[in-house]
Amino acid sequence: MNCINNDCIAVGVSSVNLSDRLISGRPYGGLAILYKKELAHTVKVLETDDPRLLAIEIEQDNHGSLVILNVYLPYDTPSNYDEYMYYLDKIKSFINACDSPLVYVIGDFNANLSNSSCFGNELVQFCQSNSLSLRDREICSGGMYTYVSDSHGSTSWLDHCVCTESGRESVTSVKVLHNYVGSDHLPILCTLNKQITPGSAVPNTNVHKWERLSDDTICKYQRLVPTLLSEIVMPTETLSCSDAQCDNPVHREGIASLYDNIIATLNKAIDICIPKGSVMTNCMVPGWNDYVKHKHSQARDAYLMWRNCSKPRHGYEFEQMQATRAQFKYALRQCVANEEQIKSDNLASALGNKDMCSFWKDVKHISKNRCSVVNTVGGCTGEENVADMWRIHFNSLLNSVTQTSQKSVVMAAIRNVTFSADMNINAQSLNNIIQQLDVGKAAGPDGLPAEALQLAGLLILSTKFKQR
Ligand SMILES: [Zn+2]
Repeated sequence: MNCINNDCIAVGVSSVNLSDRLISGRPYGGLAILYKKELAHTVKVLETDDPRLLAIEIEQDNHGSLVILNVYLPYDTPSNYDEYMYYLDKIKSFINACDSPLVYVIGDFNANLSNSSCFGNELVQFCQSNSLSLRDREICSGGMYTYVSDSHGSTSWLDHCVCTESGRESVTSVKVLHNYVGSDHLPILCTLNKQITPGSAVPNTNVHKWERLSDDTICKYQRLVPTLLSEIVMPTETLSCSDAQCDNPVHREGIASLYDNIIATLNKAIDICIPKGSVMTNCMVPGWNDYVKHKHSQARDAYLMWRNCSKPRHGYEFEQMQATRAQFKYALRQCVANEEQIKSDNLASALGNKDMCSFWKDVKHISKNRCSVVNTVGGCTGEENVADMWRIHFNSLLNSVTQTSQKSVVMAAIRNVTFSADMNINAQSLNNIIQQLDVGKAAGPDGLPAEALQLAGLLILSTKFKQR
């Protein structure tokens, strides 16, 4: 789910065990909440321990927090009545247990409000007796619907936004997005006028694309690096100093600024030469463009047409809507099913050929998309706080030795090092080490990825710097 949108973090629950080959009965799907990465420092996932309820708490600046509970209630049938009442009760105790007075319960209530249905009436009564606002009913007109039955073309108003009295005014609009066609439910958009300050999120778009560089690009980079490097002034005096324990501030400063200049120059060359692109996670359904895209747009057009003709229950428009939607769903299902098939076939053949290397590579690839991004580590939420937590952790770990009796011995040993000819480091051996660096990894604190050093390699090491 974290691949759905690169700017978002997803949390979700599912009651369906996808590892079972056979799914019996009528399983209910799952719930998900996606939130923008820059809000990660404000979001906390609340424990509900129930596949029909998923909740997050969002911290607002100086205004306490607000809670969003996503629900998926049992569908309207007499045999589900007890379970339905149990869930209404559970929602009530959830709201009561919240520290925040601002609670928004949004999702598929399976309570039809467009004509008097059993669960619909129960929901209305539930809201009245608990002083909750059925906000979509207050805002929207009676003609609203959020569900179109695939088989009869009947419409129902099943998805709702229920909120506490304190949260009522902040829900300024509730709309059905008729332009999206994906399932028999239509998306609803609830707008809340609440102030939440976004934090920083690491943008993962527009990064340099090091893989599959063209020869031209490599050539351009390798020509530019020495040209730019030759502009750097060599601190001759500093480099001629042979005192291994030198603490002349001018010399130290000279070395530091030489390093900074080289790094800045390489980064400049990268910016000029290496193309950028967004990081695309492999999230598209394979075959979407070939098999599904066209059918999806047909289904959407037919739906809008049917809606414009005031939703007939039979006749050409209805049949078109029904047929195109079935075709779209079939195509999508085929693609998803084949994807699993292809992956499974690859795994099986790798295992059969005892090719453990590619077997585990595939396993890693398949399982990669399923692990969620960790938002909270050891009680710290948000990238900065988590990083800070680790900094403090390792700081205390590395300074945990209190015994200092050996310190003087170590310092003396360092001080007495004498440099000999065989301790010289030459450009070739440095270059060998650079060429052995792993590629495709994140850049270090200087922002230089291994690829940048490997392509520049000996060019950096053999540059003739400017003399002052
Ligand atoms: Zn010196």
